[in-house]
Amino acid sequence: MPSPYQELKERAWAANQEIPKRGLAIYTFGNISALDRARGVMAIKPSGVEYNQLAVDDLVVLDLSGKIVEGKLRPSSDTPTHLVLYRAFQGIGGVVHTHSTYATGWAQARLPIPIYGTTHADHLPEDVPCTAVMSDEAVKRDYEVETGNQIITCFQDRDPLHTPMVLVAGHGPFAWGDTPEKAVYNAAVLEELAKMAFVTHAIDPRAARLPEVLIHKHFERKHGKNAYYGQK
Ligand SMILES: [Zn+2]
Repeated sequence: MPSPYQELKERAWAANQEIPKRGLAIYTFGNISALDRARGVMAIKPSGVEYNQLAVDDLVVLDLSGKIVEGKLRPSSDTPTHLVLYRAFQGIGGVVHTHSTYATGWAQARLPIPIYGTTHADHLPEDVPCTAVMSDEAVKRDYEVETGNQIITCFQDRDPLHTPMVLVAGHGPFAWGDTPEKAVYNAAVLEELAKMAFVTHAIDPRAARLPEVLIHKHFERKHGKNAYYGQK
């Protein structure tokens, strides 16, 4: 009998394949989940399986309380973080976590990625935020859930659909989107923005952020209500 979650698992599988393809992780690093919000389930990469060994039926399906509803393997150890994000951020349908090099570099420096140029402003209208460093108590309490909570705290005054990415201090990036395909796109964009900002900062550590008027112009022409970028 075919799985009732076949399409969801296939989309999650295909999005996971983008991680090595875009150079966002080596070996088993990283994970992607895809959400079916109407049915309240997500499909996520199993723990410790390499991308080239991953089969569609290896994907693990869980409900939003974390109960496994389909799959034989153990889900990614970061599963609780994905669940926290899906419960908190309405409108997202995919979550990606990687340790991509440049984004992780900024996360390890515990710094937001400055919005230096229009490439950045085309995708989000502010610096890529960086969470606070997790307290010892939180690490001991429930590490993966607390990682999600760090992100939620960082987004108290932010729109997660306008800023679909974050750096977790000392750890690495998370990105999301309304679909799993968009989430992995945002993860790849984040790595490119991190790389560009690193180069800019290396050339001139005093480089200025892009003026607000240019940030606004670039973000709005792609995402505003009068967007005119691309073929519509
Ligand atoms: Zn990680």
